[in-house]
Formats: sequence, structure tokens, C-alpha cells
Amino acid sequence: MKILNFGSLNLDYVYQVPHFLAPGETMAASAVEIMPGGKGLNQSVALARAGVNVCHAGMVGSGGEMLVDVLRKDHVDVTWLKQSQHLQGNAVIQVTPSGENAILLYGGSNREITSQQVRETISCFQSGDWLVLQNEVSCLAEMVQQAGKHGMRIVLNPSPFEEKLYELDFSLVEWLFINEVEGYQMTGEVDPQRILTVLRKRYPSIKIVLTLGEMGAICDTPLKRIAQQAFSVQAVDTTAAGDTFTGYFIASCTQGYSLEECMKRAACASAISVSRPGASSSIPFAAEVEAMLADMSTL
Ligand code: ADP
Repeated sequence: MKILNFGSLNLDYVYQVPHFLAPGETMAASAVEIMPGGKGLNQSVALARAGVNVCHAGMVGSGGEMLVDVLRKDHVDVTWLKQSQHLQGNAVIQVTPSGENAILLYGGSNREITSQQVRETISCFQSGDWLVLQNEVSCLAEMVQQAGKHGMRIVLNPSPFEEKLYELDFSLVEWLFINEVEGYQMTGEVDPQRILTVLRKRYPSIKIVLTLGEMGAICDTPLKRIAQQAFSVQAVDTTAAGDTFTGYFIASCTQGYSLEECMKRAACASAISVSRPGASSSIPFAAEVEAMLADMSTL
């Protein structure tokens, strides 16, 4: 059984600014950091650190070599990455002294994934293998269609949400991972239970994980609904919390844990990640999650 993440890779340019830029304004930033990012990259790192083998497919653009190094360092299989001559997907992030951020996202190389690349890559996987997807790459509908044809188990995180996502064949999706914002965008509901009820009606057989930030998460399958509280930590930086949750949950599923255990492990891993600064660098290793779970059980 293999896990393929066909996902985005971004260079995040993180600027510390006194306030968000106003129209026409020119302002000096007090510091800049260039960080690995992209939902795809974060999820692959989370899967790998949770202890499973993961292949990452996608498109690396110019300037993106350090992103491949980040994946390699976590033992992610990068055989399926292709190289483009054009600019690496990137994000320009302004961070104010109060910690608020404003993000300008440029798809770049992530939007250059072609139909041919999708077919070639997915044809090397088979029934029972997993495919993890987010909405930061081109050819998403084709990925779902091809993976469905090959009997892959599809996990979709429809983020960032757009109406165009409804072009996907949701009947081929096994797991849907959404946060409250995407839940609202898909249903017009704010109450978590109502979001799940609307989605259950619309997609009778899909399995849904709805994450609710510090309020925890709910897993809803056609058979049961499981609530998981968030672990209590001092939040420092919530970037990549959802990606950590998704990666750990799927890894735990493939490792044979029950749904309740998958939820617990994912909540524990994402709580550790929010207690540290950074995106992919804040994602814990399996041993750290085990240690925190063991500590909790002796309380
Ligand atoms: P996203 O990053 O997609 O917005 P959420 O904010 O819903 O996702 O967070 C995903 C998961 O991370 C939550 O379900 C929870 O388990 C964990 N989490 C997020 N914020 C906190 C927090 N402040 N304290 C503890 N756990 C948190």
C-alpha cells in the first residue's frame, strides 16, 4: 500500500510589517524569512513524521530547490516531482506586531501540473493506494478521475475553497477534510452539527473530518459521529494545524488504528504543532506524539 500526495509546494516570503500595506503605500519591512510552505508540502511532512512512507508528486519551479531538500530530509519520496522552468509557487505574507497576517498566493509551478503528468503518475499506483489532495494545484478534477479509475482511496482537503471544486466527482472521494471556514463555504451553515448534516445529505457515503480549531474536531461517517476535544496547549502559531491533523489522521488510518485513535493522535500532533512557531518545521515526530499521549494517560 502506497500513499501519494499530489500537492503544492510554496516558498513563503514572510515579512514583518508595522501594519498591512494600504493602496499605493510603500513601506519598509523590519525582517523577512523565506520558509518552506504549501499545504501539500506540510501534509507530506506530517505523513512522513507520523511514520509512513509517502510519495510527493507535483511541479518544482525555479527557486524551489530548497523545498525538495525539505521533503528529502523527512524521507519523502520525491521521484514523482517534475521540474518547470517557470517560477516556483509562492506566498507573500505580511505579519503585523499583533500576529495577524495577510497572504498573497501565487500558484506558479503548482498550476503547471499537466494532464499528461497526472496520467503518467497515477498509472503507477494501484487499487488500495491512497491519494491526498488539496486545492492548490492544477488538474485536480483529472487527479480525482484517474485515481478513481485506478481504485485509489482519495482524501480531499478542498482548501482554498472555490465554486469550481464542484466540478470534481465527489462520489470518488472517500475522505473530506474541512475546517469551519470551508464548512461554511460549502453549506452556508456555521453550526458544526448542521454543516455535517447538510454534507451527509449531499454526499451519503463520504467520510468527513471537520476541524474546529481550539474546539477540536468531529469525524462523521455514515455509521457514526465522533467528537474529539483539542488538547490544551499554549498556542503560539496555528499555521499548518489542519495539515498536521490531516497527515496524522491518514497515517494513523493506514497504521490500523481505530477511528477514535486516529482522531486522538491527529489532535495531539496538531496541538504540538500549534504550540511551536513555524509551519512544516513545527510538525512533531511520532515519538513526540507517543510521549504526549503517554503523559496524558498517566494523569
Ligand atoms: P486549519 O489549520 O485548517 O484552519 P484548525 O484551525 O481547525 O485547522 O485546526 C486543526 C486542528 O488543530 C484542530 O482540530 C485541533 O485539533 C488543532 N488545534 C488548532 N488550534 C488549536 C489550539 N489553539 N489548541 C489546541 N489544538 C489546536
